[in-house]
This record gives sequence, C-alpha cells and structure tokens, in this order.
Amino acid sequence: MAGIGSLLAAGGTDAADMRNQDAALDSRLRAGRESLGPAATPHYDKPLELARGEGVYLFDAAGSRYLNMYNNVPLVGHGHPEVVSAIAAQSATLNIPSGSLSGVVKAYAARLLGHFPASLGQLVLTCSGSESNDLALRVARAVTGRQGVVVTRAAIHGGSAAVAEISPLLSRGEGLRPYVRTVPAPDAALAGTAPLGSWFAARVRAAITALEAKGAGFAALILDGAFASDGVFTDPPGFLAEAVAAVRAAGGLFIADEVQAGFGRMGGGLWGFTRHGVVPDIVTLGKPMGNGYPMGGMVTRPDYLARASERSPCFSSCGASPVAAAAGMAVLDVIEGEGLVRNAVRCGEILKAGLRGLAKRFACLGAVRGAGLIIGVDVVDPQSGAPDTAGARRVVNTLRQNFVLIGTAGLDGHTLKIRPPLCFTAAHAAHFLEVLRAVLASLG
Ligand code: PMP
Repeated sequence: MAGIGSLLAAGGTDAADMRNQDAALDSRLRAGRESLGPAATPHYDKPLELARGEGVYLFDAAGSRYLNMYNNVPLVGHGHPEVVSAIAAQSATLNIPSGSLSGVVKAYAARLLGHFPASLGQLVLTCSGSESNDLALRVARAVTGRQGVVVTRAAIHGGSAAVAEISPLLSRGEGLRPYVRTVPAPDAALAGTAPLGSWFAARVRAAITALEAKGAGFAALILDGAFASDGVFTDPPGFLAEAVAAVRAAGGLFIADEVQAGFGRMGGGLWGFTRHGVVPDIVTLGKPMGNGYPMGGMVTRPDYLARASERSPCFSSCGASPVAAAAGMAVLDVIEGEGLVRNAVRCGEILKAGLRGLAKRFACLGAVRGAGLIIGVDVVDPQSGAPDTAGARRVVNTLRQNFVLIGTAGLDGHTLKIRPPLCFTAAHAAHFLEVLRAVLASLG
C-alpha cells in the first residue's frame, strides 16, 4: 500500500511519530466509547478523529487531509464562510424559539416554499430529519385515520421511536411492527425484463393489500428520493409514478423523504421527487438544509397540516429559530450563487463515467448507479457476481488509509456509497478515481 499513500499529500510524519499518535488516538477513542457508548463505534478499521473541515476536505489532528466523499450534511462544503457568518451574525442579533415572531423565519419559509409545487403550501421547521419524518407520520395518520406504512427493505428514516419502526435497517434486531410492510428496493437487476415502474408498483400494491388485510389499514408510502441506504437507485427517471398512483388509488399519502436527496444533490432541481414527475403529499427535509446546523422541515398541504394540528399542535421550538432560518437562507444563497445543482450533474457524470471504466477493468466492481452527486457502486464476487460485503469494507478501509472517505450501503452492505459536498470539482473526481484505481489494483 505504500505506493498508494504517495498519491496524496498526507502530512509529513515519520513511522515513530505515527505510532505515538495512533496510541494516543486509541486511548482517546476508548474514552469516547466510555462516555458516548455504542454510537461511538468507529466507521473504519483504523479509527479516525477529525479536527477541522474546509470545502471538500477534512483534517485530522496530525494535519493529514482527507477527501470527504462520505456524508451529505456539509452540502455546500465544510465551514462555508457565507453559512458560518450568517449563523454567527444571526446568533449575535436575535435568537428566539418562536418563528412566527421573527421576520427572518417568515422570509425563509416563503423562499423555501417557492421551490415546491403550489399545493405544498406550508412548512413546519424542525431540528432534524427524524423529527420531520415523525411529524409526517402524524400528519399521514391524522389525514387517513389509518396506521400502516410501506417502506423499502433497507430504508432509514431516522431514530425517534416512531421512525425507527419504519427504518428496517435500524430495527433489524426487533422485527417489524404489524403496521409496517416492506418492499424491495427499485432495483432493475431484481425486476429483470419487467419495466421497473410496474414491477415496483406491483410490490407496493401487494404491501398495501397486506396492511389492509391486517386491519392496520394503509396510511402512507415513504421513500428516500435517492434510496441511499438501499444502495442508491435513481433510474430510469419517472419509475416512481406508477407506485405513487397506486398509493393514491388506495387512499394513502406519498411522503417524499428528501433528507438525503434534497437541496440539489441529485441534480436537475432541488428535489429528488421532481425526477419522477410526481407531486408528493408531504416532503421531509433535514441534514443538508443547514449545512450541518441542525435543522429540518416538513412541507405539506395546508388542509393536511390543519387536520393534524386539530389533534395536537405541530411545532418544534428551536427548529423555527431565526438562527436556523439564517443558516438555511445562506445554504440556498450558496447553492444558487455557486451553481451547485449544475455542478452536481457535471461532476456526477464524470464520476459515473470513470467508475464504469474501472468496472470494466476490475471484475470486483459491479453496477454503477446514481444521479448528480449521490452514487452507488456494487462490490461483487468476480466469479459469481454475488454481493461481496467484506470486499466492500476492504475497499472503504483501504481508501481511508489513503485519505479518501466513503461509506457502504444496501441490505448486504456491499454498495460503495459516494456522496461528496456539492463544491466537488472535476479535479477532485480525477483524484478520487486515481486513488480508487490504485486501491483496487493493490487489493488484487
Ligand atoms: N431520512 C433519511 C433518508 C436518512 O438517511 C436519515 C438519517 N440518515 C434520516 C431521515 C434521519 O435524519 P437525522 O438522523 O438527521 O434525524
């Protein structure tokens, strides 16, 4: 692996220094696990502790620089000066937990809603994607009077008690509640020769029928617009339309979870659902919305929100704060000002073309899927083509040793999940593809 390390400027530490730093890091991580519990489990075999972020890069305490292609929270780049100064200025001016008393919050709500279809006329600001989805479930159940929810098999919609129940990947140990049914991911490889849209809609219809038979009834289909935790499924555009029609025919609601897909990541507009030509009943927002400032939102029809609010008010004290609104406003300014949606399309195409080239050279790489800057690449057994979970982990860990951070996804955990900040450039793409090539060559 020594040759690969030289592909990146990694900081000038010698072997003895590195051993001392590793020992110190190990003891800090042990202490972290003691205080933070199982959530402090390291993502990589060789743990990582970060000290600073800037643009697409993260830096550890020793000054080593990592290309962050891992997470979708720092949408416009780590420490973006416009977002940082908007948060700081608003914090110093006014921060109150009630949005209706602040012009900044009202201005943000109006601007954000301007990016949605006219029927989706109201926004509840929250502090997280989990909270947004929790609220979406409350609205869907209040509107339909039913409980049942359909999700994909490896969906993640958050960690509150209500949404953990509809996140099969998080509740593997517990089993699903009777009012939750899963469908497979919309994977063209599973659909075979059938048109993907009809194949997926048939599975949604069967799940709805099963919920109706159980007595829970059907309230909503909720889908992540990028199917990120399922392994990234984005094509062909429009494949969701038939499933959404099936939802409406059954009197249910379609909830578009844009916590991963939203704010331009998939290119072609701000939202993943527009790719399918459908108008959701509810849209939920989160992580990238404040570029790391904890904020989320639920957008829906005013009559639906009124119906849910009759039972109990839909609000979140700090979610609707002027500081959150200032962060969100700055994120929208940067997306527009820096042309980040167009950039996501351009750099996504460069990455996908490069990855497909690597898949021709290295038999362990399978299908490459994605839209804009969310991309999934399967790692497979070269002989059988079966998912290779251990192989995917090896690629991720070896990339990390070479200062590139990505993750895995999918029911089998064999899909490489690539999701850099949208300020990613063609030069970053070329660098990533070269390091991945060297890593794949070294793993044989
Ligand atoms: N929706 C999706 C699609 C997610 O991937 C996640 C978290 N990974 C959430 C909702 C929950 O977001 P948060 O953890 O920020 O509450």
